[in-house]
Amino acid sequence: MGETHTERRRRLAALIAGRDAGALLVTRLVNVRYLTGLDSSNAALLVFADGAAVLATDGRYAEMARAACPDLDVLVERRTAAALTTLAADSGTGVLGFEAHDLTVEAHAELAAEDDGIGFKPLGHPVEQLRAVKDEQELALLREACAITDRAFEAVLPEIAPGVTEREIAIALERRMVDLGAEAPAFESIVASGPNGAVPHHHPGSRAIEPGDLVTMDFGARYGGYHADMTRTVAIGAPAAWQREVYDLVRHAQQAAVDAAVPGAETRAVDAAARDIIAAAGHGAAFSHGLGHGVGLEIHEAPLLGYDKTGKLTDRVPITAEPGVYLAGRGGVRIEDTLVVRADGPELLTETTKELLVL
Ligand code: ZN
Ligand code: ZN
Repeated sequence: MGETHTERRRRLAALIAGRDAGALLVTRLVNVRYLTGLDSSNAALLVFADGAAVLATDGRYAEMARAACPDLDVLVERRTAAALTTLAADSGTGVLGFEAHDLTVEAHAELAAEDDGIGFKPLGHPVEQLRAVKDEQELALLREACAITDRAFEAVLPEIAPGVTEREIAIALERRMVDLGAEAPAFESIVASGPNGAVPHHHPGSRAIEPGDLVTMDFGARYGGYHADMTRTVAIGAPAAWQREVYDLVRHAQQAAVDAAVPGAETRAVDAAARDIIAAAGHGAAFSHGLGHGVGLEIHEAPLLGYDKTGKLTDRVPITAEPGVYLAGRGGVRIEDTLVVRADGPELLTETTKELLVL
């Protein structure tokens, strides 16, 4: 991975130079990981506009850092950001970019108080911008995370029956994902049964599944740091007419969004592809969240897809498409895939069937 990280830092350096800074102080730990391979709870990275870089971390991670990035200078220091700021000043950096979305107001004030002749400048989200487009190595990890997610769902399906609680299903899914090779669940699993299905982010509780329920399960595996995200809604016993109708509507809308996810598409237009279908059926107000989000080293990352979002999709950007319809007091349906935007058409990474499963 050494070369990959060097290449990522090289691309970042071009962005730093383009934003009139001499260097960027990277403090967001997930961004440090992306640029170095070091996964830690205390590290910062100084990247100069010419591509040179210095990593700072404390004694607990020094060995890991040297192993992960043999080509980088590693500064062993508990106050990582302060040490790198001093280093930047000593190297004659006039303007030091920082991640204003990460550095606290307090930390920023402390760094600025050192008064070593450096001018601080918020530089936007250049690392997140790079991270949105994945390389093939990253896509391979994400593909495996999604494959584990698919397999866990298939394995747990026979256990979903009347009498079993939401919590038991959530634990079974998570247990199975870890058994199949996941590092951990990618996020807190959602299992919402019957009327609870009307709450998009319902916390699985002690409600036991009943005949006539729709059950929505939103879960995923984390593998090699990469997060899978899938939702399926199943019926317990023969579905009522309204359940079948809402399911078919959401499935149709979800497919329209997947088909619209091509390079060059406005994120807003991909959201609209699904939203317009749901609205035309009279359920516009019942689709109460955005269409989806990027996935990668974080479960929610750039790009966000919603009716109020801007930006265009490009090749090799993994996203989710997850429209839903939530009817208070009755229940809900959500269908979600993780897919990669590709020039020759979307690559679905979650492959579980979207036929309505009647259990
Ligand atoms: Zn999800
Ligand atoms: Zn999602």
